Amino acid sequence: MKASAARRRYLSDFFFFALIFAMSSVFVFAAALRITGFTAVHTAADTVETSPLVIVLDPGHGGEDGGASGADGTVEKDLNLTVAKAVGDILTAAGYDVRLTRTDDRLLYDLYGDLSDYTGHKKTYDLRNRLRFAREADADLFVSIHMNKFPEEKYKGLQVYYSPGAAESQTIADTVQNYAKLYLQKDNTRVTKRSSSAIYLLSRAEMPAIMIECGFLSNEAELQNLTDSIYQKQLALTIAAAIAESTGEIGA
Ligand SMILES: [Zn+2]
Repeated sequence: MKASAARRRYLSDFFFFALIFAMSSVFVFAAALRITGFTAVHTAADTVETSPLVIVLDPGHGGEDGGASGADGTVEKDLNLTVAKAVGDILTAAGYDVRLTRTDDRLLYDLYGDLSDYTGHKKTYDLRNRLRFAREADADLFVSIHMNKFPEEKYKGLQVYYSPGAAESQTIADTVQNYAKLYLQKDNTRVTKRSSSAIYLLSRAEMPAIMIECGFLSNEAELQNLTDSIYQKQLALTIAAAIAESTGEIGA
């Protein structure tokens, strides 16, 4: 518990400063991350003897499955990967053991070798393998990253879903949702939702698991934000900071 409290304290310092800088300039932000990230890792080595938490980040879709798309031709799978990599870089700098289910543009149906019977069921095998990846990594937290879309243009805003499989999932989801309201979207009125069986990964995950729908590609203003590199970094930092805030007790 002591180690956990110490970890929380230096992580909250790290993210506080990083967030301040992120809001001012992306160049200062990058420099701040390098400096405070270095300090945080050092502090971790000096005061905390527990092994780092394993965070599995899962950029949704990939390859022939583009996911949702925006009016400007933006494809969800690409944004998911960009955001997941950015979150991963920040959490790695903060001392977490980060694994991505994919780091390039592909589905994962053949991740564990060629299968003769996946024809026509690529999506099923893809999802199954993402969960298998998290299980084999012995993940302390599984975070799937997606973008939303709706026929009506007016809908917008980040929303987090959580797995019913582990009690911590809702706390982590609530923290990400609240951080989004505090640091990213002041007018966001959305609340977290418990996953139904319709969300394959969340309904089957045994470890704490959340899915972040980062925003609506069908809303013009939100699409513009989501494709802006500075906003993407602010989004990634908001998610990473919320994960750090809420994972302090996991594995303690
Ligand atoms: Zn999606």
